[in-house]
Amino acid sequence: MKFRIHTYGCQMNVRESEAVEALLVAAGHVRAESEEDADLVIVNSCTVRQKAEEKAIGKAGNLIAAKKVVGLMGCAVKRLGADVFKRLPKLDFAVGPRAFGLIPRILEEGRYPRLELGEDMVPECMDAHVEGGWQAFVTILLGCDNRCSYCIVPDVRGHEYSRPAREVVAEVRALARHGVKEVCLLGQSVLRYGVRNAAWDQSDAPSPGGYTEAFPRLLEALASIPGIERIRFTSAHPKGCTDELVRAYREFPQVCRHLHLPVQSGSDRILAEMGRHYPRAECLAAVAKLRAFDTEFAVTTDVIVGYPGESEADFEATRSLMDEAGFDNSFVFKYSPRPGTRSAALPDDVPTEEKERRDQVLLADQERRGQKRNDALVGTVREVVAEGPSKRNAARWAGRDGGNRIVVWDASAAPSVKAGDIVRLRITEAHPQILVGDII
Ligand code: SAM
Ligand code: SF4
Repeated sequence: MKFRIHTYGCQMNVRESEAVEALLVAAGHVRAESEEDADLVIVNSCTVRQKAEEKAIGKAGNLIAAKKVVGLMGCAVKRLGADVFKRLPKLDFAVGPRAFGLIPRILEEGRYPRLELGEDMVPECMDAHVEGGWQAFVTILLGCDNRCSYCIVPDVRGHEYSRPAREVVAEVRALARHGVKEVCLLGQSVLRYGVRNAAWDQSDAPSPGGYTEAFPRLLEALASIPGIERIRFTSAHPKGCTDELVRAYREFPQVCRHLHLPVQSGSDRILAEMGRHYPRAECLAAVAKLRAFDTEFAVTTDVIVGYPGESEADFEATRSLMDEAGFDNSFVFKYSPRPGTRSAALPDDVPTEEKERRDQVLLADQERRGQKRNDALVGTVREVVAEGPSKRNAARWAGRDGGNRIVVWDASAAPSVKAGDIVRLRITEAHPQILVGDII
Protein backbone atom coordinates (compact mmCIF):
# COMPACT_ATOMS: atom_id res chain seq x y z
CA MET A 1 0.00 0.00 0.00
CA LYS A 2 0.97 3.65 -0.41
CA PHE A 3 1.12 5.07 3.10
CA ARG A 4 1.55 8.29 5.11
CA ILE A 5 1.98 8.76 8.85
CA HIS A 6 0.67 11.93 10.49
CA THR A 7 2.33 12.61 13.87
CA TYR A 8 1.17 14.64 16.89
CA GLY A 9 2.98 15.04 20.20
CA CYS A 10 6.49 14.67 21.55
CA GLN A 11 9.80 13.42 20.15
CA MET A 12 8.99 9.89 21.31
CA ASN A 13 6.03 9.88 18.94
CA VAL A 14 8.21 11.27 16.15
CA ARG A 15 10.68 8.44 16.77
CA GLU A 16 7.96 5.76 16.86
CA SER A 17 6.45 7.06 13.60
CA GLU A 18 9.92 6.83 12.03
CA ALA A 19 10.29 3.21 13.22
CA VAL A 20 6.86 2.34 11.75
CA GLU A 21 7.84 3.98 8.46
CA ALA A 22 11.01 1.86 8.33
CA LEU A 23 9.05 -1.32 9.17
CA LEU A 24 6.39 -0.62 6.53
CA VAL A 25 9.03 0.00 3.84
CA ALA A 26 10.80 -3.24 4.88
CA ALA A 27 7.44 -5.05 4.50
CA GLY A 28 7.10 -3.79 0.91
CA HIS A 29 4.79 -0.79 1.38
CA VAL A 30 5.65 2.49 -0.33
CA ARG A 31 5.76 6.02 1.10
CA ALA A 32 3.12 8.16 -0.66
CA GLU A 33 4.17 11.53 -2.08
CA SER A 34 1.26 13.24 -0.33
CA GLU A 35 -1.61 12.39 1.98
CA GLU A 36 -4.05 12.63 -0.97
CA ASP A 37 -2.03 10.01 -2.78
CA ALA A 38 -2.05 7.49 0.14
CA ASP A 39 -4.30 4.40 0.53
CA LEU A 40 -3.23 3.90 4.14
CA VAL A 41 -2.88 6.72 6.67
CA ILE A 42 -1.75 6.19 10.25
CA VAL A 43 -2.30 8.97 12.80
CA ASN A 44 0.12 8.93 15.74
CA SER A 45 -1.73 10.48 18.68
CA CYS A 46 -0.90 12.36 21.88
CA THR A 47 -3.07 12.62 25.01
CA VAL A 48 -0.92 14.64 27.40
CA ARG A 49 -3.46 17.46 27.16
CA GLN A 50 -7.11 17.15 26.11
CA LYS A 51 -6.65 19.45 23.09
CA ALA A 52 -3.82 17.31 21.73
CA GLU A 53 -6.00 14.21 21.91
CA GLU A 54 -8.91 15.94 20.18
CA LYS A 55 -6.68 17.05 17.30
CA ALA A 56 -5.50 13.49 16.60
CA ILE A 57 -8.97 11.96 16.87
CA GLY A 58 -10.39 14.72 14.65
CA LYS A 59 -7.70 14.12 12.03
CA ALA A 60 -8.34 10.34 11.97
CA GLY A 61 -12.10 11.00 11.74
CA ASN A 62 -11.63 13.24 8.70
CA LEU A 63 -9.53 10.62 6.93
CA ILE A 64 -11.79 7.63 7.48
CA ALA A 65 -14.24 8.28 4.63
CA ALA A 66 -11.48 9.05 2.14
CA LYS A 67 -8.98 6.22 2.67
CA LYS A 68 -8.87 2.46 2.20
CA VAL A 69 -7.26 1.87 5.61
CA VAL A 70 -6.92 4.26 8.58
CA GLY A 71 -5.02 3.37 11.72
CA LEU A 72 -4.45 5.21 14.99
CA MET A 73 -1.35 4.66 17.10
CA GLY A 74 0.14 6.26 20.22
CA CYS A 75 -0.95 7.51 23.61
CA ALA A 76 -4.63 8.36 22.98
CA VAL A 77 -5.25 4.74 21.94
CA LYS A 78 -4.03 3.43 25.27
CA ARG A 79 -6.09 5.97 27.20
CA LEU A 80 -9.31 5.25 25.30
CA GLY A 81 -8.90 1.47 25.02
CA ALA A 82 -11.88 -0.18 23.27
CA ASP A 83 -13.76 3.16 23.46
CA VAL A 84 -11.58 4.36 20.60
CA PHE A 85 -14.02 2.52 18.28
CA LYS A 86 -16.94 4.40 19.85
CA ARG A 87 -15.20 7.68 19.02
CA LEU A 88 -14.19 6.43 15.54
CA PRO A 89 -16.61 3.65 14.56
CA LYS A 90 -15.04 3.02 11.13
CA LEU A 91 -11.41 3.02 12.29
CA ASP A 92 -9.54 -0.04 10.96
CA PHE A 93 -6.92 -0.54 13.65
CA ALA A 94 -5.59 1.06 16.83
CA VAL A 95 -2.29 0.29 18.56
CA GLY A 96 -0.94 1.61 21.86
CA PRO A 97 2.44 3.37 22.18
CA ARG A 98 4.32 0.15 22.97
CA ALA A 99 2.61 -1.96 20.29
CA PHE A 100 3.69 -0.11 17.13
CA GLY A 101 5.89 -3.05 16.07
CA LEU A 102 2.72 -5.08 15.38
CA ILE A 103 1.51 -2.77 12.59
CA PRO A 104 3.07 -4.63 9.60
CA ARG A 105 1.50 -7.91 10.79
CA ILE A 106 -1.91 -6.26 11.38
CA LEU A 107 -1.82 -4.95 7.80
CA GLU A 108 -0.79 -8.31 6.41
CA GLU A 109 -3.59 -10.12 8.25
CA GLY A 110 -6.11 -7.43 7.27
CA ARG A 111 -8.68 -8.45 9.94
CA TYR A 112 -10.35 -5.19 11.00
CA PRO A 113 -11.28 -3.66 13.38
CA ARG A 114 -8.26 -4.54 15.45
CA LEU A 115 -7.06 -3.20 18.83
CA GLU A 116 -3.63 -3.89 20.37
CA LEU A 117 -2.89 -1.99 23.56
CA GLY A 118 0.57 -3.45 24.15
CA GLU A 119 0.62 -2.72 27.92
CA ASP A 120 4.26 -3.10 29.06
CA MET A 121 5.40 -4.70 25.80
CA VAL A 122 9.02 -4.05 24.74
CA PRO A 123 8.89 -3.68 20.94
CA GLU A 124 11.40 -5.95 19.16
CA CYS A 125 11.98 -3.42 16.42
CA MET A 126 13.15 -0.48 18.53
CA ASP A 127 16.21 -0.10 16.30
CA ALA A 128 14.36 0.27 12.95
CA HIS A 129 15.36 3.57 11.32
CA VAL A 130 14.69 5.30 8.02
CA GLU A 131 18.06 5.64 6.28
CA GLY A 132 19.54 8.80 4.89
CA GLY A 133 19.54 11.42 7.66
CA TRP A 134 22.44 12.96 9.59
CA GLN A 135 20.44 13.10 12.83
CA ALA A 136 18.51 10.37 14.68
CA PHE A 137 16.41 9.88 17.78
CA VAL A 138 17.25 6.79 19.86
CA THR A 139 14.84 5.67 22.58
CA ILE A 140 16.73 4.45 25.65
CA LEU A 141 13.99 4.44 28.29
CA LEU A 142 10.38 3.34 27.83
CA GLY A 143 7.48 4.29 30.11
CA CYS A 144 7.62 6.22 33.37
CA ASP A 145 7.30 5.28 37.05
CA ASN A 146 7.24 8.81 38.47
CA ARG A 147 3.49 9.35 38.74
CA CYS A 148 3.42 13.14 38.89
CA SER A 149 -0.12 14.07 39.98
CA TYR A 150 -1.19 15.75 36.71
CA CYS A 151 0.39 13.41 34.20
CA ILE A 152 -1.21 10.66 32.15
CA VAL A 153 2.06 9.40 30.65
CA PRO A 154 2.60 6.53 33.16
CA ASP A 155 -0.93 5.25 32.43
CA VAL A 156 -0.43 5.24 28.71
CA ARG A 157 3.26 4.47 28.26
CA GLY A 158 3.51 1.84 30.97
CA HIS A 159 6.24 1.07 33.46
CA GLU A 160 9.76 2.33 33.13
CA TYR A 161 12.15 0.03 31.25
CA SER A 162 15.77 0.77 30.36
CA ARG A 163 16.89 -0.82 27.11
CA PRO A 164 20.11 -2.83 27.50
CA ALA A 165 23.15 -0.60 26.92
CA ARG A 166 24.61 -3.11 24.47
CA GLU A 167 21.51 -2.71 22.23
CA VAL A 168 21.68 1.08 22.39
CA VAL A 169 25.40 1.10 21.58
CA ALA A 170 24.88 -1.31 18.64
CA GLU A 171 22.04 0.87 17.32
CA VAL A 172 24.14 4.04 17.48
CA ARG A 173 27.11 2.26 15.83
CA ALA A 174 24.84 1.20 12.95
CA LEU A 175 23.47 4.74 12.63
CA ALA A 176 27.01 6.15 12.52
CA ARG A 177 27.90 3.68 9.75
CA HIS A 178 24.96 5.06 7.76
CA GLY A 179 26.11 8.67 8.11
CA VAL A 180 24.34 9.83 11.28
CA LYS A 181 26.42 12.44 13.13
CA GLU A 182 24.01 13.51 15.86
CA VAL A 183 21.92 11.32 18.13
CA CYS A 184 19.29 12.45 20.60
CA LEU A 185 18.57 9.91 23.36
CA LEU A 186 14.93 9.80 24.41
CA GLY A 187 13.03 8.90 27.55
CA GLN A 188 10.60 10.57 29.96
CA SER A 189 13.33 10.77 32.56
CA VAL A 190 16.58 9.72 30.89
CA LEU A 191 18.60 10.31 34.05
CA ARG A 192 16.75 7.32 35.54
CA TYR A 193 18.35 5.09 32.91
CA GLY A 194 19.37 1.81 34.55
CA VAL A 195 17.58 2.57 37.84
CA ARG A 196 14.54 0.29 37.63
CA ASN A 197 16.28 -2.49 35.69
CA ALA A 198 20.01 -2.93 35.07
CA ALA A 199 21.11 -1.54 31.71
CA TRP A 200 24.66 -2.86 31.75
CA ASP A 201 25.57 -6.55 31.75
CA GLN A 202 28.09 -5.96 34.52
CA SER A 203 26.27 -3.13 36.20
CA ASP A 204 28.50 -2.96 39.27
CA ALA A 205 31.85 -2.80 37.43
CA PRO A 206 33.07 0.77 36.79
CA SER A 207 33.52 1.83 33.16
CA PRO A 208 36.94 2.52 31.52
CA GLY A 209 36.69 6.13 32.70
CA GLY A 210 35.57 5.16 36.21
CA TYR A 211 31.85 5.95 35.75
CA THR A 212 29.53 3.91 37.97
CA GLU A 213 26.13 5.43 37.10
CA ALA A 214 24.35 3.86 34.13
CA PHE A 215 23.52 7.05 32.19
CA PRO A 216 26.91 8.82 32.29
CA ARG A 217 28.43 5.44 31.46
CA LEU A 218 26.21 5.27 28.36
CA LEU A 219 27.37 8.76 27.34
CA GLU A 220 30.98 7.58 27.70
CA ALA A 221 30.34 4.52 25.50
CA LEU A 222 28.51 6.53 22.81
CA ALA A 223 31.17 9.25 22.77
CA SER A 224 33.73 6.61 21.72
CA ILE A 225 31.80 5.70 18.53
CA PRO A 226 33.59 7.04 15.43
CA GLY A 227 31.43 9.43 13.40
CA ILE A 228 29.15 10.47 16.29
CA GLU A 229 29.90 14.16 16.69
CA ARG A 230 26.98 15.23 18.85
CA ILE A 231 25.01 13.54 21.61
CA ARG A 232 21.86 15.13 22.99
CA PHE A 233 19.19 13.77 25.32
CA THR A 234 15.78 14.68 26.71
CA SER A 235 14.00 14.96 29.21
CA ALA A 236 15.76 15.15 32.55
CA HIS A 237 14.34 15.24 36.06
CA PRO A 238 16.07 17.75 38.37
CA LYS A 239 16.74 14.91 40.84
CA GLY A 240 19.16 13.15 38.46
CA CYS A 241 21.69 15.93 37.94
CA THR A 242 24.59 14.10 39.60
CA ASP A 243 28.31 14.89 39.78
CA GLU A 244 28.99 12.04 37.33
CA LEU A 245 26.61 13.60 34.81
CA VAL A 246 28.43 16.93 35.15
CA ARG A 247 31.77 15.11 34.72
CA ALA A 248 30.47 13.49 31.49
CA TYR A 249 29.46 16.92 30.14
CA ARG A 250 32.94 18.21 30.92
CA GLU A 251 34.90 15.23 29.62
CA PHE A 252 33.13 14.41 26.36
CA PRO A 253 33.03 17.20 23.78
CA GLN A 254 30.40 15.23 21.84
CA VAL A 255 27.88 15.65 24.68
CA CYS A 256 26.10 18.93 23.92
CA ARG A 257 26.06 21.45 26.74
CA HIS A 258 22.30 21.65 26.94
CA LEU A 259 19.87 20.16 29.42
CA HIS A 260 16.10 20.19 29.13
CA LEU A 261 15.10 20.30 32.78
CA PRO A 262 11.34 20.57 33.21
CA VAL A 263 10.71 22.23 36.59
CA GLN A 264 6.87 22.50 36.18
CA SER A 265 6.52 25.09 38.98
CA GLY A 266 8.59 27.35 41.22
CA SER A 267 6.27 27.05 44.23
CA ASP A 268 7.38 24.49 46.81
CA ARG A 269 3.76 23.95 47.82
CA ILE A 270 2.67 23.16 44.24
CA LEU A 271 5.77 21.04 43.59
CA ALA A 272 4.91 18.93 46.64
CA GLU A 273 1.30 18.58 45.48
CA MET A 274 2.48 17.58 42.03
CA GLY A 275 4.61 14.85 43.59
CA ARG A 276 7.78 16.11 41.90
CA HIS A 277 9.96 15.26 44.94
CA TYR A 278 12.20 18.33 44.82
CA PRO A 279 11.95 21.87 46.15
CA ARG A 280 12.78 24.90 44.00
CA ALA A 281 16.19 25.20 45.68
CA GLU A 282 17.17 21.84 44.20
CA CYS A 283 16.33 23.03 40.67
CA LEU A 284 18.43 26.14 41.19
CA ALA A 285 21.30 24.06 42.58
CA ALA A 286 21.19 21.79 39.50
CA VAL A 287 21.33 24.79 37.13
CA ALA A 288 24.15 26.39 39.15
CA LYS A 289 26.16 23.16 39.01
CA LEU A 290 25.91 23.07 35.22
CA ARG A 291 26.73 26.74 34.72
CA ALA A 292 29.62 26.56 37.21
CA PHE A 293 31.84 24.95 34.60
CA ASP A 294 30.37 26.74 31.58
CA THR A 295 28.41 29.97 31.92
CA GLU A 296 27.03 29.45 28.39
CA PHE A 297 25.56 26.04 29.31
CA ALA A 298 21.98 26.11 27.95
CA VAL A 299 19.17 25.06 30.26
CA THR A 300 15.58 24.90 29.01
CA THR A 301 12.42 23.96 30.86
CA ASP A 302 8.69 23.11 30.86
CA VAL A 303 6.25 24.73 33.28
CA ILE A 304 2.54 24.28 33.87
CA VAL A 305 0.34 27.30 34.65
CA GLY A 306 -3.05 27.05 36.36
CA TYR A 307 -2.50 23.82 38.30
CA PRO A 308 -5.45 23.34 40.77
CA GLY A 309 -5.14 25.86 43.60
CA GLU A 310 -2.24 27.77 41.97
CA SER A 311 -2.47 31.20 43.64
CA GLU A 312 -0.98 34.45 42.41
CA ALA A 313 1.85 33.94 44.93
CA ASP A 314 2.54 30.42 43.57
CA PHE A 315 2.60 31.81 40.05
CA GLU A 316 4.98 34.61 41.08
CA ALA A 317 7.23 31.93 42.60
CA THR A 318 7.35 30.23 39.17
CA ARG A 319 8.24 33.55 37.54
CA SER A 320 11.02 34.25 40.00
CA LEU A 321 12.42 30.71 39.74
CA MET A 322 12.58 31.06 35.96
CA ASP A 323 14.43 34.36 36.27
CA GLU A 324 16.83 33.10 38.92
CA ALA A 325 17.60 30.02 36.85
CA GLY A 326 17.99 32.18 33.72
CA PHE A 327 16.42 29.57 31.46
CA ASP A 328 17.54 29.91 27.86
CA ASN A 329 14.15 28.79 26.60
CA SER A 330 10.91 27.52 28.10
CA PHE A 331 7.70 25.77 27.10
CA VAL A 332 4.62 26.86 29.00
CA PHE A 333 1.59 24.55 29.24
CA LYS A 334 -1.87 25.45 30.50
CA TYR A 335 -3.02 22.83 32.98
CA SER A 336 -5.42 20.31 31.47
CA PRO A 337 -7.03 17.72 33.79
CA ARG A 338 -6.46 14.17 32.56
CA PRO A 339 -8.89 11.42 33.55
CA GLY A 340 -7.53 8.98 36.11
CA THR A 341 -4.64 11.17 37.27
CA ARG A 342 -4.50 12.25 40.94
CA SER A 343 -5.02 15.93 40.21
CA ALA A 344 -8.11 15.22 38.09
CA ALA A 345 -9.96 14.73 41.40
CA LEU A 346 -9.16 18.35 42.36
CA PRO A 347 -11.25 21.27 41.10
CA ASP A 348 -9.75 22.81 37.92
CA ASP A 349 -10.23 26.17 39.61
CA VAL A 350 -7.95 28.57 37.75
CA PRO A 351 -10.20 30.16 35.08
CA THR A 352 -9.18 29.70 31.42
CA GLU A 353 -8.57 33.46 30.98
CA GLU A 354 -6.27 33.47 34.00
CA LYS A 355 -4.31 30.47 32.65
CA GLU A 356 -4.00 32.39 29.39
CA ARG A 357 -2.79 35.51 31.20
CA ARG A 358 -0.16 33.55 33.15
CA ASP A 359 0.96 31.87 29.94
CA GLN A 360 1.39 35.28 28.24
CA VAL A 361 3.28 36.72 31.22
CA LEU A 362 5.75 33.82 31.18
CA LEU A 363 6.20 34.09 27.41
CA ALA A 364 6.96 37.84 27.71
CA ASP A 365 9.42 37.10 30.56
CA GLN A 366 11.10 34.50 28.36
CA GLU A 367 11.51 36.98 25.49
CA ARG A 368 13.31 39.37 27.84
CA ARG A 369 15.41 36.62 29.42
CA GLY A 370 16.23 35.04 26.05
CA GLN A 371 17.38 38.42 24.71
CA LYS A 372 19.65 38.91 27.74
CA ARG A 373 21.15 35.40 27.56
CA ASN A 374 21.69 35.73 23.80
CA ASP A 375 23.16 39.27 24.01
CA ALA A 376 25.99 37.76 26.05
CA LEU A 377 26.87 35.52 23.08
CA VAL A 378 27.46 38.35 20.58
CA GLY A 379 31.11 38.19 19.47
CA THR A 380 31.53 34.51 20.45
CA VAL A 381 32.26 31.74 17.96
CA ARG A 382 29.67 28.92 17.80
CA GLU A 383 29.96 25.52 16.19
CA VAL A 384 26.68 24.95 14.41
CA VAL A 385 25.26 21.93 12.60
CA ALA A 386 23.64 23.22 9.40
CA GLU A 387 20.00 22.14 9.06
CA GLY A 388 18.70 23.89 5.91
CA PRO A 389 17.20 27.12 4.59
CA SER A 390 15.65 29.31 7.29
CA LYS A 391 11.84 29.06 7.42
CA ARG A 392 11.44 32.83 7.68
CA ASN A 393 13.98 34.00 5.12
CA ALA A 394 15.09 31.76 2.26
CA ALA A 395 18.23 33.87 1.72
CA ARG A 396 19.47 32.54 5.06
CA TRP A 397 20.45 29.12 6.32
CA ALA A 398 19.76 27.90 9.85
CA GLY A 399 21.36 25.41 12.19
CA ARG A 400 21.80 24.73 15.89
CA ASP A 401 24.70 25.17 18.23
CA GLY A 402 25.49 22.74 21.07
CA GLY A 403 23.07 24.62 23.35
CA ASN A 404 20.26 23.90 20.86
CA ARG A 405 20.13 27.62 19.98
CA ILE A 406 19.03 28.45 16.44
CA VAL A 407 21.72 30.33 14.52
CA VAL A 408 21.15 31.78 11.03
CA TRP A 409 23.58 33.10 8.42
CA ASP A 410 23.60 34.52 4.90
CA ALA A 411 23.39 31.46 2.60
CA SER A 412 25.34 33.15 -0.22
CA ALA A 413 28.41 33.39 2.06
CA ALA A 414 28.81 29.58 2.06
CA PRO A 415 26.95 28.07 -0.94
CA SER A 416 28.62 24.65 -0.61
CA VAL A 417 27.33 23.99 2.95
CA LYS A 418 24.97 20.98 3.12
CA ALA A 419 22.59 19.82 5.85
CA GLY A 420 24.60 18.01 8.53
CA ASP A 421 27.83 19.97 7.95
CA ILE A 422 29.40 21.64 10.96
CA VAL A 423 30.12 25.32 10.38
CA ARG A 424 31.79 27.91 12.60
CA LEU A 425 30.10 31.26 12.98
CA ARG A 426 30.93 34.48 14.76
CA ILE A 427 27.74 35.86 16.34
CA THR A 428 26.91 39.38 15.19
CA GLU A 429 23.32 39.84 16.33
CA ALA A 430 21.09 38.46 19.08
CA HIS A 431 17.31 38.09 19.30
CA PRO A 432 15.28 36.36 22.04
CA GLN A 433 14.94 33.07 20.10
CA ILE A 434 17.60 33.34 17.44
CA LEU A 435 21.26 34.29 16.84
CA VAL A 436 22.67 35.69 13.60
CA GLY A 437 26.28 35.03 12.64
CA ASP A 438 28.98 35.35 9.98
CA ILE A 439 30.58 32.19 8.60
CA ILE A 440 34.26 31.93 9.52
N1 SAM B 1 8.74 13.39 31.38
C1 SAM B 1 8.91 14.77 31.23
C2 SAM B 1 9.16 15.40 32.59
O1 SAM B 1 8.85 14.86 33.60
O2 SAM B 1 9.62 16.49 32.62
C3 SAM B 1 7.74 15.46 30.56
C4 SAM B 1 6.81 14.70 29.74
S1 SAM B 1 5.32 15.46 29.26
C5 SAM B 1 5.01 14.51 27.86
C6 SAM B 1 5.76 17.03 28.58
C7 SAM B 1 5.25 18.19 29.36
O3 SAM B 1 3.84 18.25 29.28
C8 SAM B 1 5.53 18.16 30.84
O4 SAM B 1 6.83 18.57 31.16
C9 SAM B 1 4.48 19.07 31.40
O5 SAM B 1 4.94 20.39 31.50
C10 SAM B 1 3.37 19.00 30.37
N2 SAM B 1 2.17 18.31 30.92
C11 SAM B 1 2.07 17.05 31.35
N3 SAM B 1 0.82 16.81 31.80
C12 SAM B 1 0.13 17.95 31.66
C13 SAM B 1 -1.21 18.36 31.98
N4 SAM B 1 -2.07 17.52 32.53
N5 SAM B 1 -1.57 19.63 31.69
C14 SAM B 1 -0.70 20.52 31.14
N6 SAM B 1 0.56 20.18 30.83
C15 SAM B 1 0.99 18.94 31.10
FE1 SF4 C 1 4.74 12.61 33.43
FE2 SF4 C 1 6.17 13.09 35.62
FE3 SF4 C 1 6.64 10.87 34.18
FE4 SF4 C 1 7.31 13.28 33.22
S1 SF4 C 1 8.18 12.30 35.05
S2 SF4 C 1 6.23 11.64 32.12
S3 SF4 C 1 5.68 14.60 33.97
S4 SF4 C 1 4.78 11.36 35.32
